[in-house]
Amino acid sequence: MAVRGIEDLLNKVRAYNPGADMEFIKRAYFFSSEAHGEQKRKEGSPYIEHPLAVASVLADMKMDTVSIAAGLLHDTIEDTPTIKEDIQKRFGYELAFLVDSVTKLGKIQFQSSEEAQAENFRRMLLSMAEDIRVVMVKFADRLHNMRTLQYLPEEKRKRIARETLEIYAPLANRLGIGWLRIELENLSFKHLMPEVYEDLVRKVATRREEQEGYVNVLIGIVKNKLANEGIRAQVKGRIKHYYGIWQKMQRQEIPFDQIYDVLGIRIITDTKASCYAVLGLIHSLWKPIPGKFKDYIGVPKSNMYQSLHTTVVGPEGRRVEFQIRTEDMDKLAEEGIAAHWKYKERGHINPKDDRYIAWLRNFIQEIQDVRQTPQEFLDAVKSEVVPDTIYIFTPRGEIKELPLGATPVDFAYSIHTQVGHKCVGAKVNGRMVPLKFTLNNGDTVEILTSQNHTPSRDWLSFVTTSRARTRIRQWIKAEERKECIELGAKLLETEIRRRGLSVSLLKGPEAASAASGMSFEDPEDMLVAVGYGKISPQQVVNRIAPSSIQEAEAPAIKPAKQAEEEKGITITGMTDILYHLAKCCYPVPGDNLVGFITRGKGVSVHRKSCPNLPRLVADEERLISVQWKASDGAPHLAKVAVDTLDRPGIVANLSAAISSLNINIHHMEAITNQLENAHISFILEVKDRGQLNAIMQKLAQLDGVIGVRR
Ligand code: MN
Repeated sequence: MAVRGIEDLLNKVRAYNPGADMEFIKRAYFFSSEAHGEQKRKEGSPYIEHPLAVASVLADMKMDTVSIAAGLLHDTIEDTPTIKEDIQKRFGYELAFLVDSVTKLGKIQFQSSEEAQAENFRRMLLSMAEDIRVVMVKFADRLHNMRTLQYLPEEKRKRIARETLEIYAPLANRLGIGWLRIELENLSFKHLMPEVYEDLVRKVATRREEQEGYVNVLIGIVKNKLANEGIRAQVKGRIKHYYGIWQKMQRQEIPFDQIYDVLGIRIITDTKASCYAVLGLIHSLWKPIPGKFKDYIGVPKSNMYQSLHTTVVGPEGRRVEFQIRTEDMDKLAEEGIAAHWKYKERGHINPKDDRYIAWLRNFIQEIQDVRQTPQEFLDAVKSEVVPDTIYIFTPRGEIKELPLGATPVDFAYSIHTQVGHKCVGAKVNGRMVPLKFTLNNGDTVEILTSQNHTPSRDWLSFVTTSRARTRIRQWIKAEERKECIELGAKLLETEIRRRGLSVSLLKGPEAASAASGMSFEDPEDMLVAVGYGKISPQQVVNRIAPSSIQEAEAPAIKPAKQAEEEKGITITGMTDILYHLAKCCYPVPGDNLVGFITRGKGVSVHRKSCPNLPRLVADEERLISVQWKASDGAPHLAKVAVDTLDRPGIVANLSAAISSLNINIHHMEAITNQLENAHISFILEVKDRGQLNAIMQKLAQLDGVIGVRR
């Protein structure tokens, strides 16, 4: 990467700008070489190698001649007796100005590092607005320093790496220079957290080895399909950068194993229309994961990045991310502002042409007018430059900082855990919005709460803050524990009764000693283990009442099978497994069933037509096949919803009809709406689907009934 000598540099420049003034660059090189004289870098090499390397990075960015020369001279004012006027005399005002501006950037030492950071940022932005090339030279300088950071003492290394991560990388991102941002982030990461970095590098290498074959197969399939459709495109594998992976692990609080987009596929095609055609093609080959499709072509990112992103379920159920873009978009994603370079030799970028410059000028004008503390200034800059942050107001005008994409639920949890748990709705700028609404910078958000409300597992699918995610998970865990305790107690009671023993044994010292005998902290933990299915109720009761083992032996031989036969359900390939009938769709014998292996609560059995199924599938719970055995005659709960005209006596008529078929009403609820219709829902105890159909038909024929459904 580094240019060994001036000839290499000149060749590099010649390759993209044959008309460049080579003599000018050569003169700058000899001037700098002489000025730095015998100076050495930390690792002992001649100092001139650093300015040469910086100029080479600028050549990689295809910068103009003056910028290349500025790279060669950038340390002369700072580190040698050279003054601005010397440069101006020999090379003209423009180069002198560039070198002088680069020197001034970040030269002053401040008391607090916060103050220094703010001031550095301010200077960067100001010089950017004046001449963007100043910042490009500074970027090149910082990049080479980061590439050779290992020669500095640890403390200095960390300080520079942190500053790079907090200022240079976000600015590179804001200017859309993807490759620079990625290299700066990876280098900073490596020096700030060496062990974490090395560990991740190893894991990514292993994953790459495992998956490369798989990705290549997919690439082959896509290439074939594209050729058949006559779409011209390049298809290649890509690997996500280390710092990006680490950020994702932090943000979502997940281990490396759960990062699915380490290896992805990028497709580069000719036109915008082709991008969407390719997308359709990918989606016809493999099923897209809902919520993972992003159209940055229709809605570009604030740094003008454009691309289509989608994640699909590939063969063997593995997830793969595709990025689809045109060549221009790809160039823009890599080079950002540099892709817009419209320099004439020794000229400036045309500010009218460039939206970046417009954005910068605007922004600087705004932040300059206000007197601010360094912290306020930094916040203002970061919210602009780091477009991943939004500021949300409470109705009282307090400000909360949230990541881009945050929802009212994230906001509620940022106020207080209880506000989050009890949140039922939200008003944004005075208007009601759904809980998964995406907040925008500057929104005022009011959270509506209800005492009896509790968090929902669904929320995990849209919250973006780790705080909200953690709090919701904690709540669900606690709730699952409660349910397991109840279930465990019920199972033990059943087993105790079956052996003709007294239920009071479960509360006595026998239970406590059984628990400690099985190394549980307390009897409650034992109930949880029974509820989760980790230990069987028989095991526990054997310990509580050893004398009952003998007589219990015979019927206890096949407990699981017996339980199945009682309730009439078989679960394919499974024995001795806990299951429950889902409360959302109330399956009854005769219905087509499907089961999910839930986390910790055994198998949840649903009707195949249950409207919750797609969501459960997305939740990655495992689908298994479940069948009813012959109808057992035992009562099963079923839900029937009846829409009726709101007439006096209608509820009584419905109830009478149900009772006339000898069906028990377990629960009933009636809601009247403003259209003078009533909605009545019954939970009934029925034998099977046949009986349920009969009652539904009967209800539908009653006077005043509009519709009957499950
Ligand atoms: Mn330097």
